Amino acid sequence: MKPDSLLYPAPKGLYCEKGDFYIDPVQPVERALITHGHSDHARTGHGRVLATRETLDIMRIRYGDLFCGASEVANLGETIVVNGVRVSFHPAGHVLGSAQIAVEAGGRRIVVSGDYKRRSDPTCRPFEPVPCDVFITEATFGLPVFHHPDDRSETARLLASLKQFPERAHVVGAYALGKAQRLIALLRQQGYDEPIHIHGALAKLCEYYRAEGIDLGELRPATLAGDTRPDFAGGIVIGPPSAFADRWARRFAEPVAAFASGWMLIRQRAKQRGVELPLVISDHCDWAELTGTIREIAPAEVWVTHGREEALVRWCELAGIPARPLHLVGYDDEGE
Ligand SMILES: [Zn+2]
Repeated sequence: MKPDSLLYPAPKGLYCEKGDFYIDPVQPVERALITHGHSDHARTGHGRVLATRETLDIMRIRYGDLFCGASEVANLGETIVVNGVRVSFHPAGHVLGSAQIAVEAGGRRIVVSGDYKRRSDPTCRPFEPVPCDVFITEATFGLPVFHHPDDRSETARLLASLKQFPERAHVVGAYALGKAQRLIALLRQQGYDEPIHIHGALAKLCEYYRAEGIDLGELRPATLAGDTRPDFAGGIVIGPPSAFADRWARRFAEPVAAFASGWMLIRQRAKQRGVELPLVISDHCDWAELTGTIREIAPAEVWVTHGREEALVRWCELAGIPARPLHLVGYDDEGE
């Protein structure tokens, strides 16, 4: 079976005709396999959803109990047969519960990596390379200029700024699923044990991470009422990007505006958002990690999706690996 008859891009997303299922469809479908809980990959309204337990829990937290018709848990490494097609889920290292999905039929295996990273992350299982004929990779940071610094040095910059400006609140924008919890866990690893204040939009997911055994230390709501330090001077306040852009972020004492994202590498983006302290912390691979992963897996073919497709396709071709862009639409860079 040729790989592109096993899995191909269709208007609703990557489609497996033989198994009659989609992977991370962008519109409601009868049967969906979901790689992780970010909202551009995990949408509501599907008939049946197959995903890891954590991803299903995250979808339930975000969308409510009726997020799909019926859900089924995929245990990591276990093979499940869907209409004669063998599928299995493997850790992707992106956020809690994130998985790559291997699809196998007629002696061919395609691995859909979803979003992934290679750095260690105290909040999720590390990426596991899975041998395959076709590796489908994201390319969010698929340009040679992208090099993510060590996340510990970025966190240390935040802690240094706190020391330097003890009278100012440090208000950090971070995506609600994954980035916020990783940043908190990194701060705890570096010995920061003061309470961290969080925006209400982060509360349920932080609570879930904690219930899954991830140490986030003491978290307090970032509300003004009843707090002994109502302006949060000298403290860390974390909120989602949407809140960061509105009045919420400006109520704090002479706030130092920080933002945790791989895009903070681009000064222009930091400037546009009014970010004083950009923290380059990404839940995606940088260029060296993307190309290193392709070399390590050594697939017969690479398909590239969401992001800077052309540069990575070109790199593969120069490395002697046939590659093509998938041109899937509907994915943004949430969680980046
Ligand atoms: Zn993601």
